[in-house]
Amino acid sequence: MAKDETSVEEQENIARQQVLDIIANSPRCRQDEESVMMIRKAFELANDAHRGMKRKSGELYIFHPVAVARVAAEEIGLGAKSVTAALLHDVVEDTDITLGDLESLFGTKVASIVDGLTKLEGVFDQSASLQAENFRKLLVSMIEDVRVILIKLADRLHNMRTLSSMPEHKRYRIAAETLYIYAPIAHRLGLFAIKSELEDLSLKYEHPQVFAQLEEKLKINQGNYEAVINSVLGPIKERLDAQGYEYSIKARPKSIYSIWHKMQTKNVPFEEIYDILAMRIVFKPKEGVSEKAQCWNIYSIITDLYQPKPDRLRDWVSTPKANGYEALHTTVMSPSGRWVEVQIRTERMDEIAERGFAAHWKYKDGKESEIDNWINSIRQMLETAESDSMEFLDSVKLNLFSQEMMIFTPKGEVKVMPAGSTALDFAFEIHSKLGYHCIGAKVNYKLEPLSHELKSGDQVEIITSDKQTPKYEWMNFVTTLKAKTCIKEIFREERHSFIVKGEQILTDELQKRKLSINARILKKLMKTYHVATREELYFQIGRGNIKLDNIEKALTQKATSKWVKMWRLTFGVNDDDNDDEDEKEAIGMPKGKNIVLSDEAERQFTIASCCNPIPGDDVVAFVDEDDTLVLHSRRCPECIKLMSSRGDRIISAQWESHKVLSYLVVIGLSGIDRTGLVSEVTKVISMEQKVNMRSVHFESHDGVFTGSIYLYIHDAADLQTLIGKLLKIKGVDKVVRKERTDNNQ
Ligand code: MN
Repeated sequence: MAKDETSVEEQENIARQQVLDIIANSPRCRQDEESVMMIRKAFELANDAHRGMKRKSGELYIFHPVAVARVAAEEIGLGAKSVTAALLHDVVEDTDITLGDLESLFGTKVASIVDGLTKLEGVFDQSASLQAENFRKLLVSMIEDVRVILIKLADRLHNMRTLSSMPEHKRYRIAAETLYIYAPIAHRLGLFAIKSELEDLSLKYEHPQVFAQLEEKLKINQGNYEAVINSVLGPIKERLDAQGYEYSIKARPKSIYSIWHKMQTKNVPFEEIYDILAMRIVFKPKEGVSEKAQCWNIYSIITDLYQPKPDRLRDWVSTPKANGYEALHTTVMSPSGRWVEVQIRTERMDEIAERGFAAHWKYKDGKESEIDNWINSIRQMLETAESDSMEFLDSVKLNLFSQEMMIFTPKGEVKVMPAGSTALDFAFEIHSKLGYHCIGAKVNYKLEPLSHELKSGDQVEIITSDKQTPKYEWMNFVTTLKAKTCIKEIFREERHSFIVKGEQILTDELQKRKLSINARILKKLMKTYHVATREELYFQIGRGNIKLDNIEKALTQKATSKWVKMWRLTFGVNDDDNDDEDEKEAIGMPKGKNIVLSDEAERQFTIASCCNPIPGDDVVAFVDEDDTLVLHSRRCPECIKLMSSRGDRIISAQWESHKVLSYLVVIGLSGIDRTGLVSEVTKVISMEQKVNMRSVHFESHDGVFTGSIYLYIHDAADLQTLIGKLLKIKGVDKVVRKERTDNNQ
């Protein structure tokens, strides 16, 4: 016993020393004696309060807040108050310390930041998502003080770094939520290093095999990459030295997540990602010449040496990104025939790029920055927030999209808009009144309708008429949060009355059949009429867009496919409902066991129609309202959304064994056409004993063919074998599995 106590004491001393190191390493934390005392006091309080708690990994709990404080200070560059709040971020939620205590000991600012980081108690009705409500609370606090979200990001980063000690179903949920919400927020705030690490860690836990494979491929190619970089580097250094620049150059492959993301979105194999290598030149600007001119001078030096790819020049020096990012990017051809991306930045730009704009952002000097604009749009969204938590999450997500374009006003002023914005979005962006009365736009002097999709560089003049009134249908072609919020605001009351009316119509219709509204019926109707939420269903019924004339058919349809039951799956037991990624653990708690469900199991399970996973795919199960387990692919966007809002209903699932039964998948092929190619392809497929072909479709023009083949296949491993064999056929260049298969095919 005595031995244990000394070891706890020793560990606490290690944690205490870490706090002293944070103070020593961070100029903002040791600027005055008062700050240093406050941080040390916070540590002692947190240490006492958390004493006796451990994390799932077995280490003392106090190491977590200390690690979060370290990220806040050293990786985000926050000051003493934030570090204090980071050390205390879990005490109100998990210990007897109250906000009042914190206020009297550390002042109102620290207390209100901790309040923003404290989760709500679970007292919501069944349909609400606690996860989404907590997220909403976090955003409300962020509007008051952006440090709340910065510390939350530090918290999430440390939880992701230590995720391996978590049970499986929580790993998937936390990883998905991180990818869905927190990495985009980090990006939006310009915290590039943190965003990148969050993405890589998410991928690592959601698709461990994919991650390991890519890691391996990068390792194998490392020598090759180094040779390419070195061949480019020497001449660049020579010229920069000759012109007397002080600089440093870092070269490395892209992050594993960004490689994977590209493979997914472009549907290409690893080998075809041409811009894997990136090189960064960070220089100290010479005095007396503008930073911009010097960036372009270095660009000129590089493109004198190597040929640039014309469509890959990015100038974020003249117009910084909305998150504050500034740099000049070009992609050049190396002597070895590989493209290398070169990023050119000054030391100041590099600081912003790595640590983000937010930490340097003066939020009280009255100057409107892009971050202010962003926070304002979040504020507006919260004021008119959706009652449906999924839709709310969607709205936030929408606002975090990183693809941006520049649109010019008639007077030449620049507005940064998300890619895909329409003329009407632009009208609302300038002013809500302009949006409400908009009848069209002149895009580059040419008249276009409201729904016209804008391109970067367009000059847009909005045309209005006093007679114009807002239309609900506009929702179909606006994409920005601001426009959506404005339109919804106008139709809020009207929408509400349609919802009430729709619910009544449905109630009456069901009563005729001696039925009443329940989750099972709603689910069937939502599926039949293709609406995502029950509110939307009522609304569409109320407006008369959904006529209930085929309600009979909708009600009698079977939800579960029979063949699914032929498979055996292992589901992880969701051992507690505590929706908390920090995982404090009382010693002796029972560990989660896996349960096996097969034909005889009471609970139904079904395969999600959005992603159609097959045995061998990475999957999780979602427990829906009538207790059916819905099996989703972990790559499925719908599933990622569910994990981010209803994580409490996610359980892990593993393919266990399966009887001989087949799944329908679609593969796409392309390559150079030649006589006999199609018959060779079909021959290879028919030789595979475990594969059955259902239909083949080939098209060829100008010597290039594309084809789709529908196959019945047992599992992902058999599919992989087949793809390997098809790729060996002369002329076949690419074989990919298509994610979505149509159920009716
Ligand atoms: Mn925490």
